[in-house]
Amino acid sequence: MTNNQTKTGNTAPVDNPVPSFWNADPRPLDDFRSTEDLPSEIDIVIIGSGIAGVGTAYHLLQDTSFKVSIAILEARDPCSGATGRNGGHVKPDAFLNVPRNAKIYGAAAAAELAAFEASHVYAVKDLVEREGLDCDFNITRALDVFLDPEHAKQTEAAYRELVEAGIVDLRDTSFTPKKDAERVSGVKGAQCCFSYTAAHLWPLKMIHQLLQLLLNKDLKLYSHTPVSSISGTQDENGRWAVTTSRGLIKAPKIIYATNGYTGELLPEYSRSIVPIRGICSHISSTKGTDTPHLVNTYGIRFDARNNDYLIPRPDGSIIVGGARQRFWHNKDRWYGTVRDDELVDEAVSYFDDYMQRHFRGWESSGAKVDSVWTGIMGYSADFMPHVGEIPEKPGQFIIAGFTGHGMPQVLLSTKGVASMVRDGVPFENSGLPRIFKTTKARISAKRSLMEENLEPLWRTGRESKL
Ligand SMILES: Cc1cc2nc3c(=O)[nH]c(=O)nc-3n(C[C@H](O)[C@H](O)[C@H](O)COP(=O)(O)OP(=O)(O)OC[C@H]3O[C@@H](n4cnc5c(N)ncnc54)[C@H](O)[C@@H]3O)c2cc1C
Repeated sequence: MTNNQTKTGNTAPVDNPVPSFWNADPRPLDDFRSTEDLPSEIDIVIIGSGIAGVGTAYHLLQDTSFKVSIAILEARDPCSGATGRNGGHVKPDAFLNVPRNAKIYGAAAAAELAAFEASHVYAVKDLVEREGLDCDFNITRALDVFLDPEHAKQTEAAYRELVEAGIVDLRDTSFTPKKDAERVSGVKGAQCCFSYTAAHLWPLKMIHQLLQLLLNKDLKLYSHTPVSSISGTQDENGRWAVTTSRGLIKAPKIIYATNGYTGELLPEYSRSIVPIRGICSHISSTKGTDTPHLVNTYGIRFDARNNDYLIPRPDGSIIVGGARQRFWHNKDRWYGTVRDDELVDEAVSYFDDYMQRHFRGWESSGAKVDSVWTGIMGYSADFMPHVGEIPEKPGQFIIAGFTGHGMPQVLLSTKGVASMVRDGVPFENSGLPRIFKTTKARISAKRSLMEENLEPLWRTGRESKL
């Protein structure tokens, strides 16, 4: 190992993650390796086979005039990270964090991000239809339902200010006041709600089918091939040496699509992108299809910090994730951990009777939790992902840190990264929100806005009674 070669810590993907609802059944690409031995060299190495890694490979291989060899190296089964364990909710942030983003980054940057996210619903739809992907894709309305009267009032006031300021396009957002909120949303005790266009899908199916298409275009895929380090310098031909459990592979271009695990290979990002554990569940009715069918997806907001996401599936079953009330006050249980091989035990029972508790008409549905799983996200210290060429590492690119909110951000980011890697397009012309750009200043910032926000909760260490 050379002096400045990266070293491994303890934030690499762990073996044997708990199965999620989405990946419970075996798939043909599990354990897949394009060749028995790793090639000794290749044009582009992509580390990670979630939506960031596979989306980037997809866009790189879209241009058939670009002859290039690409290998995706994946520590576990393909798409076994967050993308294979999430809620499947493509939910653009239409307004909620716009005031915060405008305060930190300026109104123009906040508006650019909101428009970028909104366009993802149709970008994902286009991809699904163009490639004929069978992944339960549905366009829907997302309902953000507010349960705390004070929080509801504050959010309504912030929304009205936003309308007044005209920073973002709110034509697709609809507000429902308290008098109608419970009936419109179906959520008991709703104080107000907002709705806007969103989508949901089965992300693991989408990614596995994309991978299959790309393998037909000569992509090389190596599962169960964790990368342990990258050389600190290039060789005389400008190639970086990538050390894996199955030997060395050299490439002039490397793309880190490593989500919360990024700091393991790029220690300079350890403070900027932190692994975070989330928990999610699948609920089915024991009375078959006799329960009211929910046509919208939900964000159920108990207060400014605690919220759940809920996605009804076409078969009538429900995905619910969140349960922060049970464990967020206890930092060690979720912050800085990559352990998705275990549940957050104290949160599991949170999902029992969830539908009966919160939804009108579900009281005698017999709805029952049939699986609970965890997954690892990459939370960014300044709330924005890191995308683009890594400072002082020519030919190395990052696309990571989507902060639990990747589905309305990643796909078009992969298109932008592909244009940088393939055509040398500067970040500024790549179509990406300016605040996604990875920079030395962001990487070395001492301040973590995320930690500042969480500190009061950790200090009190008290479980929320919500
Ligand atoms: C429980 C849960 C629910 C979520 N729900 C939603 C939701 O509903 N909507 C939404 O927008 N977002 C949601 N998210 C977040 C979303 O899933 C992520 O933002 C998105 O999937 C990130 O994609 P990715 O490709 O960057 O990461 P991942 O899908 O995690 O892919 C990274 C891959 O890199 C591999 N890897 C890392 N290090 C190495 C290494 N050293 N060697 C080889 N391979 C390596 C990992 O094994 C992993 O497969 C959720 C996340 C979780 C965990």
